[in-house]
Amino acid sequence: MLLRHTSSEVLERGALTINPAKTCQPIGAMYAALGIHKCLPHSHGSQGCCAYHRSTLTRHYKEPVMAGSSSFTEGTSVFGGQANLLQALQTLFTTYNPDVVAIHTTCLSETIGDDLVQIVQKAKDEGKVPEGKIVFHANTPSYQGSHVHGFSAMCKAMVDNFAQTTNTDTNRINIMPGWVEPVDMRELKSIAATIGVPITMYPDTSDVLDLPQTGNHDFYPKGGVTIDAIRASGDSIGTLALGHSASRRAACALEDKCSVPHQLLELPIGLQATDRFIDAMRVMSGVSVPDSITDERGRLIDMIVDMHQYLSGKRVALWGDPDQLVSLAEFLVLLDMKPVYMVTGTPSTGVEKRLKHVLGPLAAEAKIAKGAQADMYLMHQWIKNEGVDLLIGNTYGKYIARDENIPFIRHGFPILDRVGHQYFPTVGYKGAMRLVEQILAVFMDKQDREDPEEKFELVM
Ligand code: SF4
Repeated sequence: MLLRHTSSEVLERGALTINPAKTCQPIGAMYAALGIHKCLPHSHGSQGCCAYHRSTLTRHYKEPVMAGSSSFTEGTSVFGGQANLLQALQTLFTTYNPDVVAIHTTCLSETIGDDLVQIVQKAKDEGKVPEGKIVFHANTPSYQGSHVHGFSAMCKAMVDNFAQTTNTDTNRINIMPGWVEPVDMRELKSIAATIGVPITMYPDTSDVLDLPQTGNHDFYPKGGVTIDAIRASGDSIGTLALGHSASRRAACALEDKCSVPHQLLELPIGLQATDRFIDAMRVMSGVSVPDSITDERGRLIDMIVDMHQYLSGKRVALWGDPDQLVSLAEFLVLLDMKPVYMVTGTPSTGVEKRLKHVLGPLAAEAKIAKGAQADMYLMHQWIKNEGVDLLIGNTYGKYIARDENIPFIRHGFPILDRVGHQYFPTVGYKGAMRLVEQILAVFMDKQDREDPEEKFELVM
């Protein structure tokens, strides 16, 4: 029992976090920055921070993640990071030749109080940023918030720095995809193309972190949104912002700056959230939904109806990012399952309200926790007091799954010990089918493993 010291007695904790259900802000900023074409993320802090952020992304996506570091030392902590960043920018452009450098801060540079606006201007004045190259930054102090806040801050920085109104007529809509996998972003683009809606999506990490093996290594892969496309997003007819926690700030900033109206939606994971996403796209663009999409929806419903008996009444524990939890919980309720425990380390405003809304009458018996003390230890304590049939969350749940012998589906970030999340979307109707298939597989595997011989079935 790896977690044998978890007690079932839940005590009020004011400060201690045990096995947090989140990671740190710069990881999200780095992930978002990788969704810009020919962008090199840069971590303004110590080498240790940057190594942690890069390695977490690399382990999840199984792709090499490149980023620069200001390589703070003890001296930097006293005198500030200006000299290091000036040197770093010169080295990055001379050696790695990115089109864009997206700087994010860290706990240390925020504590020092480095003025990034002034330092970047100084770098430009001293000719350390070559003509035509771009440097911008987002503040990501990781002693508050989570990776989701870092992602959101970098997305907002894209709007603040680049989006413009040129009063050019366009029929494009912007999609801010929220923190989803590169393959999910690819699927969102595919759905828009099928419906016939021209979109600009940012960030876009498809073809950056889900690369095919060609035998060649491109330091800057072909994917990522261009800065020109972000600039032109200020002329779009509207924005669909997916995921309140990850996309709301950028969408609001674009509306304030360029008067592009936005609609805030939950991540299109599951049947109803996908319905709303497709309908919003239909209304915003004035197009009709083609039969191929309606057929895909019908296949999902058929699968749910066929397999309902295996899903009904099953108790589920979920942890991860607020936006993921809300859409997953809504879909599980539709499947007639019971999301009973939900934990997110991200201190997101309004997440409890959103969860209770999608849970409906089930909210009365559900336990929801958010913030620093909403950790995997608390989740385990709840499960020890009353068990569940299924766990859904990132890799860090594997200890609970093993100790308590509970079927476990890996979903969210980070997934460090399985593949699949890079290749199979969970957004859209196709993604919902993938989720149902995963849930059924773990239930049926358990049944096959544990049923007595006289109940062992060939046909299920
Ligand atoms: S929490 Fe702060 S110190 Fe730790 S890795 Fe993240 S940015 Fe660095």
